Amino acid sequence: MRGTNPKLALSVTPVQNKTFYIRTYGCQMNESDSERIAGTLIDGGYSMVASADEADLVVLNTCSIREGAENKVYSDIGRLRLLQREAGATRTVAVAGCVAQQEGPALMARDRSVGLVFGSRAISRLPELIGRVEAGERVTAIDIHTRPDAPDSQVRGDPHRAWVTVMEGCDNHCAFCVVPATRGPEVSRHPDGVVAEVRELAERGYVEVTLLGQNVTSYGKNHGTDFADLLRRLHAIDGIRRIRYTTSHPKDFSDRLMDTLADCPKVARHLHLPLQSGSDRVLARMGRGYTYAAYRAKIERVRSLLPGLAITTDLIVGFPGETEADFSATLDAVREIGYFNLYGFKYSRRPGTLALTLDGHLDDDTRDQRLATLLAMQKATTLRHYQALVGSLVNVLVEGVSKRNTARLSGRLENGALAHFEGDPGWVGSFRQVRVTQASASALIGVAV
Ligand code: SF4
Repeated sequence: MRGTNPKLALSVTPVQNKTFYIRTYGCQMNESDSERIAGTLIDGGYSMVASADEADLVVLNTCSIREGAENKVYSDIGRLRLLQREAGATRTVAVAGCVAQQEGPALMARDRSVGLVFGSRAISRLPELIGRVEAGERVTAIDIHTRPDAPDSQVRGDPHRAWVTVMEGCDNHCAFCVVPATRGPEVSRHPDGVVAEVRELAERGYVEVTLLGQNVTSYGKNHGTDFADLLRRLHAIDGIRRIRYTTSHPKDFSDRLMDTLADCPKVARHLHLPLQSGSDRVLARMGRGYTYAAYRAKIERVRSLLPGLAITTDLIVGFPGETEADFSATLDAVREIGYFNLYGFKYSRRPGTLALTLDGHLDDDTRDQRLATLLAMQKATTLRHYQALVGSLVNVLVEGVSKRNTARLSGRLENGALAHFEGDPGWVGSFRQVRVTQASASALIGVAV
């Protein structure tokens, strides 16, 4: 959203003929932050290019949720260093996101080619930080205790669907999670600012917004409001036809919020509610703050209010100390709830987390086998959910031309399922009725009617 923050625009000294490239790893919060980074740089006189080797400034917007993601960042930094040496180019490498936040000065010490390390709460200060780097300083800006409340400039990657960050950080301390250390304590944006942003998006033709935060269900505490009130206000905005949100915490998923979901049909009938484990013993060791029975009671209540609601979840297998019985409890829970889909992860050792200090760390093979078992079980369930849609008419927001088959369009149903069908590329950004004709465990095929 360029030009929405005149204060920021005024503070930027334009830089002539400078180019930047951003590589984004990880979650939607990072995608959204990259849009803000791009907006801030463009306001500062930079222009965006399509590859790292054309760029004066390369920003790696990183993720540290799992070890694999973090290692990718280090190998990318190494590749950039080589590129730099071969071309003799003077390029600034900046590392943003969770690895930046987590490693900070250590990242600088580890690799001399990195000139700037900054966290999500320093995005609006980028012009000043880059100015210091250009003056020869190596700069670290990873304070997690501040955040500008107004949205910064943002270059949106899609003209119809927008991410809107409503809060950042987390006050929980799940034993496996780096977020409280990397994103800092929970801070919500003022609801008036969020409503104004979504209203402006609607005026510009956006039809779908996804509200982002580490735990949107605890939104608003610092403003004396809550997520239910925010949803009601956003629901009233003309032009916005679908509202998504992610992610939620079971302990904050309140009756009041469920009642609001039932009253607001523009809020997608899709709930992503991370369970993490079906075993109470493991949930307690994780510090999640609920039991499986309490979780299941919430699912029963929300399903009674919203029949047909698609429920998805996150699960971690192989958490330290997880026994075969604990893992079986997770499989039982998955079977009982019948998730529409799930994201399964092997427990991953993360620096600075409580889980590292727990006993009972499991070997790789056990964790791999458990993950494979879980995913195979869910694949069959997801396939059943998708097959149940064959023959029905579904409402699809057309997102673009299919990547695999350019004769087809792709879009998503309210429940998040991907659908492919033939149609006019001019339909992108509109809602179409599609008759589902085939289903696999990853997508639906249909015919637009
Ligand atoms: S609630 Fe989510 S973001 Fe917060 S500590 Fe737990 S897993 Fe991490």
